[in-house]
Amino acid sequence: SSATTPIRATLFPGDGIGPEIAASVKQVFRTADVPIEWEEHYVGDEIDPRTQSFLTWESLESVRRNGVGLKGPMATPIGKGHRSLNLTLRKELNLYANVRPCYSLPGYKTRYDNVNLITIRENTEGEYSGLEHQVVRGVVESLKIITRQASLRVAEYAFHYAKTHGRERVSAIHKANIMQKTDGLFLKCCREVAKKYPEIKYEEVVIDNCCMMLVKNPALFDVLVMPNLYGDIISDLCAGLIGGLGLTPSCNIGEGGIALAEAVHGSAPDIAGKNMANPTALLLSAVTMLRHLELQDKADRIQDAILNTIAEGKYRTADLGGSSSTTEFTDAICDHL
Ligand code: NAD
Repeated sequence: SSATTPIRATLFPGDGIGPEIAASVKQVFRTADVPIEWEEHYVGDEIDPRTQSFLTWESLESVRRNGVGLKGPMATPIGKGHRSLNLTLRKELNLYANVRPCYSLPGYKTRYDNVNLITIRENTEGEYSGLEHQVVRGVVESLKIITRQASLRVAEYAFHYAKTHGRERVSAIHKANIMQKTDGLFLKCCREVAKKYPEIKYEEVVIDNCCMMLVKNPALFDVLVMPNLYGDIISDLCAGLIGGLGLTPSCNIGEGGIALAEAVHGSAPDIAGKNMANPTALLLSAVTMLRHLELQDKADRIQDAILNTIAEGKYRTADLGGSSSTTEFTDAICDHL
């Protein structure tokens, strides 16, 4: 692999535990000989007028140029006159789909050991369009926006994902019996795209029934695609099925095929700087980035090394009931590699 030209990828180590778990990713990638060259960008300490946020214009340009990146957690600075970092990234890079693989980690016991599903959340509209106002005193209104363009785009991504990742079925999650126009349009778009993928089974499941089925038997699902609000809730529900936010990776897909992977958790200020953080979520996010780049061999090797280390149980961080530091756990993964 040393003969291949390195692929440049943007790395935002982020705040709090971010730099510690980003160091873990860099070490594991080096050990596995992954042909990635990181372009590191930190969040600035003042507002960049060009982005109206603490994210620099250069860092956004870096993601646009490279098309791939990995993002650590970013603390939301308290104060006025700037946009939230995550919102800025989502808007500026047009990150329209949030993809979360959720599978049981062998050796880490939870209520279920057969979870293997993917949630794909529309990330730009729905109830999160930010269109809320007061009609008269005591009456407020929030607009839920669903467009054909965004629905087709996320549905297309879901079916393409299913096809390229050996998945058999896509379930569209909705409440079209009540939200007839909005969710109705979302479903219509999913059906249209489904016709182009006859080899992938397609079904529609009402959100309330979906929740019941997920907690009763998560193995009933394969790939789930849904509008923004449902995706926000269901994806956390699914994270809970496999052991929590410390283990769950995600990847944001943007315009022009941009992939920005990120852990689901925050900057964990309570344990920052103590070499205690669990790097698993960020490492598995980095694995989703490798899969996006179709570096399947590297992705498999790293994922196996992480899962084997956790399953072996000798080195685990405190959140998983162990007493290993971030660096000891990372070294153990590298030994498995
Ligand atoms: P958090 O996820 O940072 O922490 C919640 C709890 O989980 C803490 O006890 C923490 O120690 C623990 N935890 C989280 N990740 C862990 C890991 N990898 N290993 C071990 N333990 C871990 O949530 P919070 O405290 O609500 O938020 C802290 C900051 O992070 C806030 O500024 C918030 O805005 C930000 N945040 C950012 C993102 C993001 O960048 N995507 C997401 C959520 C929160």
